[in-house]
Amino acid sequence: MPDCLFCKIIAREIPASIVYEDDRVIAFNDINPQGPTHVLVVPKRHIATLNDLSTADDGIVGEMVRRAAAIASERGIATGGFRAVFNTNRDAGQTVFHIHLHVIGGRPLAWPPG
Ligand code: 5GP
Ligand code: ZN
Repeated sequence: MPDCLFCKIIAREIPASIVYEDDRVIAFNDINPQGPTHVLVVPKRHIATLNDLSTADDGIVGEMVRRAAAIASERGIATGGFRAVFNTNRDAGQTVFHIHLHVIGGRPLAWPPG
């Protein structure tokens, strides 16, 4: 296993507040939430960045995006609106190199981001 924070959360070596899990995807609350809802949707298979995706990953990426929408719906923020973001590499501020979809909402969100 790579020395990866999110792989350790998936393996239950580090605790997290898990809000959804199936065979392929896990979702947990961000430790430093940027809104009333801030969930990270994470594939169980280690993929470092969006730059590392192949066509074989189309299914898991689709599942992640649909799970983000389902979580937003469960929390009552789907209609009002939410943001789903993948940060990639330095200029976007990626700090954990295991892809994750940020699902942020529950407050108005400014655009463009910083
Ligand atoms: P990135 O900057 O890579 O797009 O996002 C990484 C996210 O992981 C950040 O929002 C950060 O707050 C979150 N994070 C970092 N360490 C932990 C942790 O140990 N547990 C949880 N639940 N989130 C974490
Ligand atoms: Zn990982």
